Amino acid sequence: MRKLLTLWAVLFFALFSTGRVVAQSPTVVNLVKAGRLLDPRTGNVLSPAAVLIENGKIKEVGPPSRVQDHAPAGVKIIDLGSATLLPGLIDSHTHLLLNVVVPAEAEMTRYTFFQPGLLLAVAAKSPAERVLLGAQMAREDLESGFTTVRNVGHSGIDGDAALRDAINRGRVPGPRILAAGRKLTPMGGYFQSLNPAVAESILRQEFLEVASPEEARRAVDEDLFYNVDLIKAVADDDGVGITVPVMTAIVEEAHRAHKRVAVHAQTKIAIQTAIDGGADSIEHGDAVTDEQLNMMRDKGIFFDITPTFWSGFLTNIFEANIAMSPELRSRMAASNDQRRPRVAGFIQRIMKSGVKFAAGSDMCWFYPGKTRGQATATMFPALHAAGMPPLDIIRAVTTSAAELLGWQDRVGAVEPGKFADLIAVAGDPLTDITELERVRFVMKDGQVVKNDLASH
Ligand SMILES: [Zn+2]
Repeated sequence: MRKLLTLWAVLFFALFSTGRVVAQSPTVVNLVKAGRLLDPRTGNVLSPAAVLIENGKIKEVGPPSRVQDHAPAGVKIIDLGSATLLPGLIDSHTHLLLNVVVPAEAEMTRYTFFQPGLLLAVAAKSPAERVLLGAQMAREDLESGFTTVRNVGHSGIDGDAALRDAINRGRVPGPRILAAGRKLTPMGGYFQSLNPAVAESILRQEFLEVASPEEARRAVDEDLFYNVDLIKAVADDDGVGITVPVMTAIVEEAHRAHKRVAVHAQTKIAIQTAIDGGADSIEHGDAVTDEQLNMMRDKGIFFDITPTFWSGFLTNIFEANIAMSPELRSRMAASNDQRRPRVAGFIQRIMKSGVKFAAGSDMCWFYPGKTRGQATATMFPALHAAGMPPLDIIRAVTTSAAELLGWQDRVGAVEPGKFADLIAVAGDPLTDITELERVRFVMKDGQVVKNDLASH
């Protein structure tokens, strides 16, 4: 028996090594040159700058005079002129398989304005249709400079994992995806009421409902079966919440499989449940107190800020989609006015506390006239309007976001050994953050996705 095994081993080794020789491809080397390179970690600007890329990874970064000397003869040079190079952007909170159309005003009085669109996506679209929608959203995100995204729910059972794999295998273009699979939610978290005859099967397409530690472990295992990269849990919705023992069980089970746990928590109680249960990141965190910010800082829990709806985004998509009554119009204007000082204070407190933070778009809306990437990039001016300085905004979607994902060894910075995920903008994003809404050059894995800077 042992002899037979040895024979097989020898045979396999022979096959494997032959395969490797045949599959070996020539080394691909690129040299990207630009007027400036911003390092978000230090805030330093290298000018002029060059990045040497070998087989999709960054090999050397420095002044062109030096880096060029180390490039092999015949290297392909990509000259971006006076543009500013940055690491590829990371959206740490998105929903690629959801593109909700704002419902008519009359519908909003009957449901939350999210529910009709979500219900259509879950109950009226096939999983295949949703993944193909996700493929479009993914490509549009990539074209706007988002080279990595964390997809935190609303993808059906395994839609985001399937999309991730298709992108990794080169079947469709898109960012690197960390997939969360189904959200772990308390009973009835997202839908107010459904037809009892079909409610269970609709809910199971989108959520894993948990009400006890045993159910929590089982739900984590179900997500893991579909190869998720992280677990997304929802700690609150109008008083119906996941308890600390349930949250603790989710975190223990996920950590056993070396997966992180992102927790949607908006109320003070939900945020406390996430903290006490040992969450790795808190998403949204609207009602966070100073005391909770300190606890998060001391425990190393990330704050994932989602600023998209702060600066009149909803008004813009309402305007573009539906006829609004004068009452709705003035109600929205008033709520925008109230929100402005509130979010400014929110950003101030987060930055002062020293908590680690990243930013995510939470994008899931159909925005007429904008691609998904353009809609996602509206989070940059929203953060700036709330008082966050440009360098902190850039860190929140590069170096800090990479750390939130646990991927700081591979993305988020233009450094040797990292994936060659680069973007470039024409101007200076440190003086005008809206430059990030106009990304002109995108490279992922050393491959040029888009180059509007090429003059020749
Ligand atoms: Zn979300």
